[in-house]
Amino acid sequence: MAVNLDPDLLSILVCPKCRSEFRVDDEASELVCTNAGCALAYPVRDDIPVLLIDEARETKEADDHR
Ligand SMILES: [Zn+2]
Repeated sequence: MAVNLDPDLLSILVCPKCRSEFRVDDEASELVCTNAGCALAYPVRDDIPVLLIDEARETKEADDHR
């Protein structure tokens, strides 16, 4: 489902963990941190980004818990 975010809103949002900017992942309905060392993906629910580290999922290539 496409993410419908106000570009002005998106431009001021930063990752709460590392303060980097986001890119939008429409397929996953997520905001993905652009910092490769962080790379957390935050869910967007009803067009509202949930910027909670507890709710985020790691997209980094770390296979240590598989
Ligand atoms: Zn981050």
